[in-house]
Amino acid sequence: MFDPKDKFSKQALFEEAWGKYYAGMVEWIGPEFGGGAVEVRPATMEIVVEGEAQKVDACNVIPAQKAGQIAEIAGVTDDSGWAPVNPENMKSKADENIWVLGDSSAQGDMPKSGFSANSQAKVAAMAVRGELSDAKVFPARYSNTCWSLVAPDDGVKVGASYEPTPEKIASVESFISETGEDAALRKATYEESLGWYAGITADIFG
Ligand SMILES: Cc1cc2nc3c(=O)[nH]c(=O)nc-3n(C[C@H](O)[C@H](O)[C@H](O)COP(=O)(O)OP(=O)(O)OC[C@H]3O[C@@H](n4cnc5c(N)ncnc54)[C@H](O)[C@@H]3O)c2cc1C
Repeated sequence: MFDPKDKFSKQALFEEAWGKYYAGMVEWIGPEFGGGAVEVRPATMEIVVEGEAQKVDACNVIPAQKAGQIAEIAGVTDDSGWAPVNPENMKSKADENIWVLGDSSAQGDMPKSGFSANSQAKVAAMAVRGELSDAKVFPARYSNTCWSLVAPDDGVKVGASYEPTPEKIASVESFISETGEDAALRKATYEESLGWYAGITADIFG
């Protein structure tokens, strides 16, 4: 796995799981050893790392991400490719009639996740309602948790609460699973993720 980033969320937890459950199967290569500039040659099924071509049987390439083209066309993105928003209500900084939620938004510390998008949508909906009806608008509070199932019944998580500051949505309190946790706690974390999924799908589609 070639990665242009120096580190990634839950790295210690993932590396622990790779050693415990998938020994010899997963190798993470950061920018120091060529993860930062990988050339992909689909015609010959090769990747080129540090000038050396390697044959691959399958290759999952994730290009640099940016907001959907519709956001660009709407004129709400900046040079980063993402759409800056006001931290207190998710309203576009470029157009006061547009709200941008979820992955497309450049908001600060929140990770791009379904949980974050849902949390941001609630704040935005409250702000829209306030503008339309003069209803009370409460101070924005955001939250996120990302679970990963590293093996059957072995769940880990990372999460935080966030509040708006003048500059960005800022993390105010965070938590992360620890390496070496016992099986009962990992099973409980996995079961918590099932509860979250049931809750958020009911929230969205119910
Ligand atoms: C492999 C993977 C696993 C993930 N696991 C989790 C997880 O466990 N928990 C979690 O919280 N998050 C998870 N995420 C992240 C989560 O899926 C995203 O953060 C979330 O879907 C973002 O929601 P969004 O509404 O901002 O964008 P999207 O879900 O991408 O929705 C944007 C929608 O806009 C549509 N669209 C684009 N352009 C147009 C247009 N011109 N006209 C009309 N429609 C258009 C797209 O088709 C798309 O349906 C995962 C992501 C991936 C890739």
